[in-house]
Amino acid sequence: MTVSTAAVVHLKPGRDKSLKRWHPWVFSGAIARVTGTPNSGDTVTVMGANGVPLGLGAYSPHSQIRVRLWTFDPHQEIDADFLATAVADAVASRGVPEEGGPWARRLINAENDGLPGLIVDRYGDHLVAQILAAGCERWKEEIADALLAATGCVGLHERSDADVRLKEGLSVRSGHWRGVEAPELVEIRENGLRLLVDVRQGHKTGFYLDQRASRARVAGLANGREVLNCFGYTGGFGLSALAGGAAHATHLDSSGPSLALAERNGELNGFDRARWSCVEADAFAKLRQWHQEGRTFDLIVLDPPKFVESRQHLPRGCRGYKDINMQALKLLRPGGLLVTFSCSGLLEADLFQKIVADAALDAGRRLQLVDRLGQADDHPVLMSFPEGAYLKGLVCRVQ
Ligand code: SAH
Repeated sequence: MTVSTAAVVHLKPGRDKSLKRWHPWVFSGAIARVTGTPNSGDTVTVMGANGVPLGLGAYSPHSQIRVRLWTFDPHQEIDADFLATAVADAVASRGVPEEGGPWARRLINAENDGLPGLIVDRYGDHLVAQILAAGCERWKEEIADALLAATGCVGLHERSDADVRLKEGLSVRSGHWRGVEAPELVEIRENGLRLLVDVRQGHKTGFYLDQRASRARVAGLANGREVLNCFGYTGGFGLSALAGGAAHATHLDSSGPSLALAERNGELNGFDRARWSCVEADAFAKLRQWHQEGRTFDLIVLDPPKFVESRQHLPRGCRGYKDINMQALKLLRPGGLLVTFSCSGLLEADLFQKIVADAALDAGRRLQLVDRLGQADDHPVLMSFPEGAYLKGLVCRVQ
């Protein structure tokens, strides 16, 4: 398929600064006019007000992010070869699959790998893709070819069922896409644990690969401790704690199907059934109730969903983080550890740390910061795209 780059997006004067710093987004408000008639996903040239071309990107007529840049070289050709090179480079950067069980990694991390809007996770021999922007939607078949060629995986499943697609004027879609259909549950190996991933119905692509390094960290902190895995999903942090010698792990989540998988994961790894339990409840209410009942833990992991979806939700989201951290701190025994996360990209690391400090004050607990955590190394952050660093975690000790 040939692509016309005849369409040009002309920026308003002074609105070329972020592009000159290789930030890959053009917002609608920065655009003076568009010449040509680009369709959704078509390649356009982005031009400064002085007539200097700044790069090539995918046009998205329905989104506030009107253009996502493929390249800052205006002479590049955006075609199947360009995409195959970007895909192959990202895949190669994750290294070769580890021995000792089905390997799971994020292979394509969207803008951070030069492929705006494209997320691809590998679970064993199966790939799961989320196509979240108009540009990769336009090139999806070429991308599928490149993914299968670069990885040698047997199948590709699509989970483009995220609401962000609606902002791009794209409908949601999910299902088997290429090659061998994925089984109901795909088994992976992480830090020596066997884990089942529901790539069809699970959250996102099925599993939160971004927490791999932090789950290993928790394994190293857990020996002998009674652990609360709050917002536990399919058990990842709690099972890691058990592998690290925890006395007991409680997985708390509001999702029944997620906890059912946490149960199966516990059994799969042969942990004594007396060492873990699952509680299906709202975390905010349950932690309050436990405090009233005098229940305590030695290590609490707090890994809530994104509380800040947009800038206007920042104050409300901050209150949510403060409340849940305060409730957790009240449940910790002296010397206990809080491992607390925020995956809200709009909440900066410094502010998150302040919120946790405030939560400790309100809980009346003296708190030490022991370590800072972030997303695993298969989730690289493009340095010119700070939005890519969304996950932050703190390891804290109460006295
Ligand atoms: N820690 C997990 C990922 C957590 S994702 C891992 O390492 O795999 C966030 C989880 O919070 C989801 O499983 C979701 O079902 C759960 N959740 C969302 N709101 C909740 C609430 N109010 N109370 C309890 N769990 C909630």
